[in-house]
Amino acid sequence: MTFLPNYLNSILKAAAFCCLALTLLPAYAQDAPKQGNHGINVANMDRSVKPGDNFWLYCDGDWIKRTEIPPDRARLSVFSTLDDLSNKRTAALIDELAKSNAPAGSSKRKIADLYNSYMDEAAIDAKGLAPLQPHLKAIAAISSKKELAYALGQTLRADVDALNNTNFHTPHLFGLWVAPGFNDSDHYAPYLMQGGVQLPDREYYTSDNEHMRDIRAQYQTHVSAMLKLAGFTDTDARAQRLIALEHAIAEKHLTLAENDDIHKANNTWTQSDFNTKAPGLDWAEYFRGAGLAKQASFIVWQPTAFAGESALVESTPLETWKDWLAYHVLEEYAGYLPKAFSDESYAFFGAMLQGAPQQRPRWQRGVMVVNRYLGDDVGQIYAQRYFPPEAKAQADAMVANIIAAFRKRIDALDWMDPKTKAEAQAKLTTLYVGIGYTESWIDYSGYEVKPDDVFTNVWRGKLFQYHRQVARLGKNVDRHEWSMTPQTVNAVNLPLQNALNFPAAVLQPPFFDPKAPAAANYGAIGSVIGHEVSHTFDTEGSAFDSKGRVRNWWTDADLAHFEAATAKLAAQYDAYQPFPDLHLNGKQTLAENIADVAGIAASYDGYHASLAGKSAPVQDGFSGDQQFFIAFGQNYAAKGRDAALRQQVMVDSHSPAQYRASTVRNIDAWYSSFDVRPGETLYLAPDERVRIW
Ligand SMILES: [Zn+2]
Repeated sequence: MTFLPNYLNSILKAAAFCCLALTLLPAYAQDAPKQGNHGINVANMDRSVKPGDNFWLYCDGDWIKRTEIPPDRARLSVFSTLDDLSNKRTAALIDELAKSNAPAGSSKRKIADLYNSYMDEAAIDAKGLAPLQPHLKAIAAISSKKELAYALGQTLRADVDALNNTNFHTPHLFGLWVAPGFNDSDHYAPYLMQGGVQLPDREYYTSDNEHMRDIRAQYQTHVSAMLKLAGFTDTDARAQRLIALEHAIAEKHLTLAENDDIHKANNTWTQSDFNTKAPGLDWAEYFRGAGLAKQASFIVWQPTAFAGESALVESTPLETWKDWLAYHVLEEYAGYLPKAFSDESYAFFGAMLQGAPQQRPRWQRGVMVVNRYLGDDVGQIYAQRYFPPEAKAQADAMVANIIAAFRKRIDALDWMDPKTKAEAQAKLTTLYVGIGYTESWIDYSGYEVKPDDVFTNVWRGKLFQYHRQVARLGKNVDRHEWSMTPQTVNAVNLPLQNALNFPAAVLQPPFFDPKAPAAANYGAIGSVIGHEVSHTFDTEGSAFDSKGRVRNWWTDADLAHFEAATAKLAAQYDAYQPFPDLHLNGKQTLAENIADVAGIAASYDGYHASLAGKSAPVQDGFSGDQQFFIAFGQNYAAKGRDAALRQQVMVDSHSPAQYRASTVRNIDAWYSSFDVRPGETLYLAPDERVRIW
């Protein structure tokens, strides 16, 4: 469970269209952090707004007014500004490596070669569709459903992630996630998940909303155009049939809210179970194609989707499936094919779905490609250069304070049974907190990179990651393993490992500034830390015990209390309505909203503990507590295009920024800090405020 939506995973088809990372530094970058001034940024606030009416605008209103979203962006935020910094640094590192003329086969040379192979547009255009032709020919040669099953198996990749970087979307028929087993958390197990559609979520196929109908009409035009570019004939009819197939697949899918239920996901199937529980697809051929013929069993996340999708393999004509395969491989690799493909793909998935008319500059996309396929090699140098031991020590101390605050809060809960409390405390004791960077870097020596062939570099990169994951099946779990590179601006809780990662790139001003008052650091990065710690105890995290096993360690009464409190929180977020025809889904965002509420509460306590009885310094006329809450609100300075905001509401487990900033309405101290009174928009009577941890 991450702190921020992972736009890279959800939107990026070919590492071509990222939405959170990278920019030409916008105006905002020049004023945050302020020179010679550390702590909250009063120039970003709009003090004409009452904090109790709209805390987000109060903290960020002037920034929102003066910020313009550049044409290559779907959204800007305080996080994207830090991403820009991280990417500029990474680009400079890559540039140095490229000039160092490192020996062939060395990791430095691979980084340079991968980046340069992406940057060489002339070489990519000159090759035309040639790199993809062998794959298209193989698809054209499929002559039976048995061969189709094998070919579908060959597309399986390690491209989904249910609980860490949370990504439930794969365009391949199914997706593989290798992680500690639900029932044996000491060993890695294979989780299989539903897939098979290109649009971001089933809602895009099934919703009757006018906006969605418009997207579907444009999708038909886009699919036809892609097929035409690749030399197919009769493309309108082919597009119509393969979209009808995607629609049928989407109808079998579980919703995002349903995917969050661990207990429904814990289904162990042997290979023969697939034949009886999900007949249609030739499973033996599928697993042979995937290189998993010897894997005895799998955990199937969405059994009904597997049954439905497998039946569709049998009932849908072979030719439709072949068109589906051809279009899917074209779309997946469009960013590494000649400009016409890349532009057509972006026009739909970037400009149409996200609202940003222009692609990012190519160098920024090149950095993303390197981060995706050689991220740890770059990260190792990045961490050495940009994360000094002093910063690590100070971040360690904050984490310790916030975890101590969490412990006290658990002890003080009047509704919780002592036995449940003891297991909650045990979870905090075994929690591994990674600060800055991993202790064991990924070894990419098995990944071959060629200087002038980005298509096969990316193809092999995905295969390398897949084989690396498959090779881990059945092996002992490394609880200290990281799931983020140090240059990533985000944070994550890994529930099956009972571990947290805070990458170096997020431990930077304005979130974390060693020179800022404690109030600002605890309000900003402290709430992020608290958020990740509390994922340990959200609706999903609380399903796992201190060893990462799925085990109910709750008494019935405790669970009933927890469920009542969380239902109240879900209702609070259900009521938010960013568009007249679109509400937030309180259940889909529940785990993240719990983490936001519990995170700020624990960080507030940690802040007070850090003062050790001394009074806090006043800054710009704001008390320590006021600075704490304003710093929290300033985490959510963000501006997005309507299309991007709609997509987030529909496909993401994180609430949009303005509602995350409103989390404060559940915290008593916020009311006294800003004199918030009944009648103001965000006001909640004391018994309506949600207190969970
Ligand atoms: Zn989170």
